[in-house]
Amino acid sequence: MSEHRFSRRLLAWYDRHGRQALPWKRKPDPYRIWISEIMLQQTQVKTVIPYFNRFIRHFPNVRALARAETDAVLHLWTGLGYYARARNLHKAAQQIVAQHAGVFPRAFDAVADLPGIGRSTAGAILALAFGRRHAILDGNVKRVLARFHAIDTPLNKRATEDRLWRLAEHHTPRKRVADYTQAIMDLGATVCVRTNPRCTVCPLHVNCRAYRHGSPEVYPVRIGVRRAPLKATRMLMIRDRRGHVLLQRRPPVGLWGGLWGFPECLDGDACHWCREALGLNVQTETPWPVLRHNFSHYHLNITPIPARVVGGTDQLMENPETVWYNLNQPDRRGFSAPVKRLLDQLRVTQGRRTNI
Ligand code: SF4
Repeated sequence: MSEHRFSRRLLAWYDRHGRQALPWKRKPDPYRIWISEIMLQQTQVKTVIPYFNRFIRHFPNVRALARAETDAVLHLWTGLGYYARARNLHKAAQQIVAQHAGVFPRAFDAVADLPGIGRSTAGAILALAFGRRHAILDGNVKRVLARFHAIDTPLNKRATEDRLWRLAEHHTPRKRVADYTQAIMDLGATVCVRTNPRCTVCPLHVNCRAYRHGSPEVYPVRIGVRRAPLKATRMLMIRDRRGHVLLQRRPPVGLWGGLWGFPECLDGDACHWCREALGLNVQTETPWPVLRHNFSHYHLNITPIPARVVGGTDQLMENPETVWYNLNQPDRRGFSAPVKRLLDQLRVTQGRRTNI
């Protein structure tokens, strides 16, 4: 299909059915588009909207984000997952201030040079914010193109990726680039969905090869995708005599990097571990039910173990990486979703105890 017919059909569909009311579209400046594009990586629009609104309220522009504390940024990201995105946003804002006088760059190479921004995200920001003709190839677009062209080579091969980029560039029109970019993302998110694509209402179905073959869900082809393994950990929810809970900041990189969480003891006697690793005498209580947290590459079973300090807490003084957290006066820090959930449950349990 020619570049024009593909984009014309898509744009006509977008004018009638596209998601025009998204909050980052109301005032499409590059800063807001950038924040939304990063939040939308791996995350659905309806989840992103309240996070986006809150984030923009706190950090309305690049300079406000650049001068924020990392904890304040991670705090606003709590529950959204993939926290490297927040750390990279923060670093990128500081880079924009240092290297571009606080003005979001317009050159493709300068945008792609920012932490956390790859070729597709750079293209999306420039297309959506400035109407520049750049192709995008996020997960949704890969699915649409792989189906439309019935590409039967595995998606995780370099040659397939190169071919998809060529097709993405071929279909990107010269006019209405911003609308086209939003349109193809919307089509992938709402019509050409992973399971049960809604081909009968798709503007591309007449020429879609996967649809004509009667097998859209076969595409995109993936091989060598192993089942995600199951891992386990135990989180120690240690309370002192005031009811404050011991939290530690995780290392800046890696899983939940820079977020606050409970000490984790993988196996063995938890009381012994606390004495050895934390210098604390504790008494453990009955573990809470196991929490399952799913990552893209593995599943994590978390056993939460409540514990009380016996004796003083003097050996474990507070420092920048360790805090006795007051559940009733929560401050601004970032938590992973399971830790946030456990803190909320602890707060409820503590409230019940106080009311007895
Ligand atoms: S016809 Fe079906 S498979 Fe083809 S692009 Fe549209 S929704 Fe996707």
